[in-house]
Amino acid sequence: MDREELSAWLETLGEPAFRGDQIFKGLHRHRFFAWNHFTNLPHSLRKQLESTVELRWPEITETIDSEDGSTKHAFRLSDGKQVEGVYMPYRNRTTLCLSSQMGCAMGCTFCATGQMGIVRNLSAGEIVGQVVAMLNAHGHSGVTPVNLVFMGMGEPLHNLENVMKAFRMLTDKEGLGLSPRRITVSTSGLVSGIERLATYAQRPRLALSLNATTDEYRSRIMPVNRVWNLAALADVLTRFPLEKKERVTLEYVLLSGVTDSLEDGRRLARFARAFPSKINLIPFNPHEGSGFEPPSEERISQLCQILSKAGLTVSVRRSRGQDVAGACGQLVRGKHNPGDPGQGSR
Ligand code: SF4
Repeated sequence: MDREELSAWLETLGEPAFRGDQIFKGLHRHRFFAWNHFTNLPHSLRKQLESTVELRWPEITETIDSEDGSTKHAFRLSDGKQVEGVYMPYRNRTTLCLSSQMGCAMGCTFCATGQMGIVRNLSAGEIVGQVVAMLNAHGHSGVTPVNLVFMGMGEPLHNLENVMKAFRMLTDKEGLGLSPRRITVSTSGLVSGIERLATYAQRPRLALSLNATTDEYRSRIMPVNRVWNLAALADVLTRFPLEKKERVTLEYVLLSGVTDSLEDGRRLARFARAFPSKINLIPFNPHEGSGFEPPSEERISQLCQILSKAGLTVSVRRSRGQDVAGACGQLVRGKHNPGDPGQGSR
């Protein structure tokens, strides 16, 4: 429940609405995990809650540390299903990669999650629970300024209602109070979802897993492109209501001899110049049996030059967590880039 729902529910129990604020703050800010920790609530209410409401965050069932400092976690949900998330500490910020669905309906050919099909959407509580469980596991207390990316299992715009409810809970000043600007949803190109996201006054940032510069190749690896092709994507992104200085992030995995030609670079520049954007080039993460190779350093630098000369902001993202299969395309339970053999990841 978000704070308003909690308050409304407390009122049905004959309690004042502000009890909802107290409980929301206790759960999200102080991260209490037992009702007897809520010493600001009347004893009688605590007793009532103890006997009727179980407090439980998703349980971490598996933790794999990578040499680069990132950690992949598996979470068990209340129905026993498991999803994955990745904790990535950087020098001056920490990024958490979250799942939005169990399985995924989008069927990207390079993604193990996509091959599972959709099992179910995660609830807002299960999405927030991944954040809280990771913060607790890594010793963060109180308000912690972290970045969140919906690049784990699932297509977040396919579960937009719950993702947006989780967004409101995560940015609530009485809770974790995360900055909306530090939360990014990454889509495989669900144009109807982008249009719906555009209608929210407060929303996360948008990233698109592009991964191809021709419809022919994109439709082959990302079936969503057969419904909404590159022209449809450019059209919706041109109309997307960006704030001042906000840009759409374009994620593009470089596969040697497949998506890293100089002509790809020029087509990518043309696509990206149609709207305010920044480009993340992601050299492919080699993994056994993929059949793909990473691009050469020389080719990466040539592509950067083409994009920079076109006036675009470009960065090269080296995947983290590669040795624990937590990098883009390696979350076996999902992600939007062909460099990611597992849990979702853009
Ligand atoms: S890459 Fe993302 S959108 Fe595509 S099937 Fe995997 S989880 Fe779904």
